[in-house]
Amino acid sequence: MKEGLKIVISGPSGSGKGTIVKELIKNEQFMLSISATTRMPRQGEEEGVHYYFKSTSEFEDMIAEEALLEYANFCGNYYGTPKAPIEEGVKNGKDVILEIEVQGAQQIKQIYDDAVFIFVIPPSLTELEKRLVGRGTETEEVIAKRIGRAKEELAMYKEYDYIIINDTLADAIDQINHIVYTEKLRSSRFEVDIERVINN
Ligand code: ADP
Ligand code: 5GP
Repeated sequence: MKEGLKIVISGPSGSGKGTIVKELIKNEQFMLSISATTRMPRQGEEEGVHYYFKSTSEFEDMIAEEALLEYANFCGNYYGTPKAPIEEGVKNGKDVILEIEVQGAQQIKQIYDDAVFIFVIPPSLTELEKRLVGRGTETEEVIAKRIGRAKEELAMYKEYDYIIINDTLADAIDQINHIVYTEKLRSSRFEVDIERVINN
């Protein structure tokens, strides 16, 4: 069995990453890397499903134990990717999705040079604010912080292999599925197949 892909999905808060990923993982081909965070759970978020919710000292213990592949501070909270499930997932042929912010994505780039980097952006900042307000999960103050951060994040788009403008959700999902389909045709993934062709 061929290894799955490691797919990093970043984008400003409210751009629609979570919504896109939720749709993608309905397909068993994908596995979502569940992050650890020190932020409080939102209504409806479950431990071990959306995040592993940690206190700051628990999170700092994970850092000290080197249990995290990467971590970053985003708008005042820690977020990090547990190491173990990623390797296991790709070995089992799953395309593992890391839905993480830009500083974490930079760290992953140093670790995995074969990961695929996708940046999801909103059609406009006005629409981004509308979506964040519409989601109704953050206070006005937190929304303002996240929009401020969005401008800095958008400037980093060139660090990514692909840009998805999440205007219509179905199109965004379709585009990501096309990227995944094409990434699997990279020559670097065909060593074994070429051997078989040559020897038969
Ligand atoms: P993120 O995970 O990037 O912070 P979410 O997936 O939570 O963003 O999306 C933010 C809000 O925007 C949610 O209320 C979601 O339902 C909505 N949303 C996501 N994608 C679209 C879209 N293509 N068109 C309109 N609303 C969207
Ligand atoms: P939220 O609080 O909206 O769930 O997430 C805030 C930001 O943290 C988003 O940009 C999200 O992609 C990012 N994030 C979630 N998990 C991780 C992680 O494990 N590492 C990093 N670096 N960022 C993460």
